[in-house]
Parts: sequence; C-alpha cells; structure tokens
Amino acid sequence: MGGSMATILSGKELAEKMRQEMTREATELKERHDLVPFLAVVLVGDDPASVSYVKGKEKACAEVGINVRKHKFDADYSEEDLLQLISDLNHDPKVHGILVQLPLPKHINEEKVLYAIDPEKDVDGFHPINVGRLMIGAPGYVPGTPHGIQQLLLRNNIDTAGKHVVIVGRSNIVGKPLALLLVQKKPGANATVTICHTGTKNMAEITRQADILVAAMGSAEVIKADMVKEGAVVIDVGVNRVGEKPSAKDPSRMVAILKGDVDFEAVKEKASAITPVPGGVGPMTITMLMVNTVVAAERRAARSN
Ligand code: NAP
Repeated sequence: MGGSMATILSGKELAEKMRQEMTREATELKERHDLVPFLAVVLVGDDPASVSYVKGKEKACAEVGINVRKHKFDADYSEEDLLQLISDLNHDPKVHGILVQLPLPKHINEEKVLYAIDPEKDVDGFHPINVGRLMIGAPGYVPGTPHGIQQLLLRNNIDTAGKHVVIVGRSNIVGKPLALLLVQKKPGANATVTICHTGTKNMAEITRQADILVAAMGSAEVIKADMVKEGAVVIDVGVNRVGEKPSAKDPSRMVAILKGDVDFEAVKEKASAITPVPGGVGPMTITMLMVNTVVAAERRAARSN
C-alpha cells in the first residue's frame, strides 16, 4: 500500500506530560492551602481486571502526590454497608474524590450506589447530575475516557471545530459522553457529531465521511481501511484480548495480546493520525481521573476561602 504513514498519537507520552503538570499543581495546593488531593477508592470482590485497574490507579495517583485510601471488601459485602460507606465518605471533609470500581457484584444495585455519591466528589463523572451538567455545558466532572480523548486531540493541535466526528459506540461511559462533549459550542469542541451503533445501516458509508473517527465498540479490528477516509484522524478506544504470548521480559510468563477496534496496520497507511493500542487512549483515561481529583481538591480549597 502507498501513501504516507500516519502520525502516531501517543497517549502514553501525553499522559506522562500531564502527570508532571499535575505534580506541580498538587505541590502548589499543599504550599498554598496545606491541602493534599485525596481519593477514596472502593473495591468490592476480587475480579482480576478490577484489582489490576485499582492497582494502576493507586500507583499513578501516588506518583503525582494524590493520597489514595483503598476500601477493599469481600464479594459478599452488602449493599446496605456499601451505601453507608459512601455516605460516610460524602461527609468526610478530607475526601475530595470517590471512585467505586465497576462492575459491582450482582447483588448490589450499581445505579443506587453511583447515584449515592456526592456529585461534587464524583470524579468518575457517572452521577446523573454530572451527566446533566455535561449535556448543558456546565462545569462538572467529565468521565475519564471521553475527557482524555478530547485532551489527546487538543494537545496534538487537532482542531475539532466544524469537523465531522463519527463515533462508533453509544455506551454511557464512552460514546454518549464523548458526543456531548464534542458538540458543545466551546473551544476544543464545536464539531458535527454522528453516533453509530449496532442498529446503524450502511455504517461504512457513514464512517467514510468522518474527519475524525472514534471506534469504541469493543470488537477487535472491525474498522478496516475501506471504512476510513484518506487523511482522517482515527481514535481507537477498544481494548480486546485476542490471545496470549510469552512476556518479552520473562518468557516463562504469558501476557495478553491486545488489539483495538481498528485494523491498525492497514488504517495507519490511510489516516493522517492514529492512536495505538495499547498506549493510546488507555493512559489518558487514568490521567483524567487524576485531573478530576486535583480539580475537586482545588474547588474545595476555593469553597473554604
Ligand atoms: P460497551 O458498553 O460494550 O458499548 C459498545 C458499543 O459499541 C455499543 O453501543 C454497541 O452498540 C456498539 N457496537 C458494538 N459492536 C458494534 C459493531 N460491530 N458495529 C457498530 N456498533 C457496535 O463498551 P464500552 O464500555 O463503551 O467500551 C468499548 C471498548 O472500549 C471496549 O473494548 C472497552 O474495553 C474499551 N474501553 C477502553 C477504555 C480505555 O481507557 N482505553 C475505557 C473504556 C472502554 P449497541 O448499543 O447497539 O449494542
């Protein structure tokens, strides 16, 4: 295939840069207000993916100077006790952000728990008050993945204004909030947005119109080169385990082979810029959670002045 190769949009590098900025902000909060951003993380059960996500979040927070307190419970922890814990965290002035790792065990009503979090401490941005604020363009907390995608575009000087953004996937954590974010009449947004899903007819015809194409469906390499316009910017949110391979560091250990929702090798020949998997959107998601926690601490400092 001919054509020039796409710019690789490294979320890993940008996340590193933003984490350095955050370290400076956290130091300033400490010096000016004697305040250390504080995130309470709640983990129920021992789902391996959740345990590893929480570990990643704890490590990343510690690196930038955010205090993390983990509340870990067995899988049979009751909904009543969990709601009581959320209420205690809501009332604890030291706690700026609350994160409940999903999914929760089946006997716990996830909606009830998420709705119980004080919207001012809802650093995941899943509370309906924050979803509503996002919709009307009021300040609140935006979920990490769409927020991270917006930053990845902005900081790579990819203008969204007047562009046709096509998002494949309409989940409440990625597709829908990203559409709401990018359609606002604001800098870093002002796009024309189309959302595709499994009910969409002639999807390739629509994706081929995209100046910026976002794949967030959770299905390996569905977006092929013939579904992408020459010169488009392609953001791949998908993380799909397609097998295992021996680890490069320690060949006696097996590690997951991860693929995105985009056929990277073929699409990079056609796109002007593209995110890799891993190292693209993933690192930005955790970074924006930390940004929200620092912002929550700053807002608390402003309220108590
Ligand atoms: P989800 O809740 O399963 O939603 C997937 C969406 O994609 C649904 O709206 C579904 O349509 C649509 N879809 C699925 N297959 C499709 C197809 N072949 N054609 C058109 N639409 C299709 O998933 P999610 O939570 O948004 O996550 C999506 C992917 O992103 C997953 O791979 C996940 O692991 C990854 N992810 C990554 C990060 C990160 O930080 N890197 C964060 C979050 C998610 P219907 O609504 O019609 O079913």
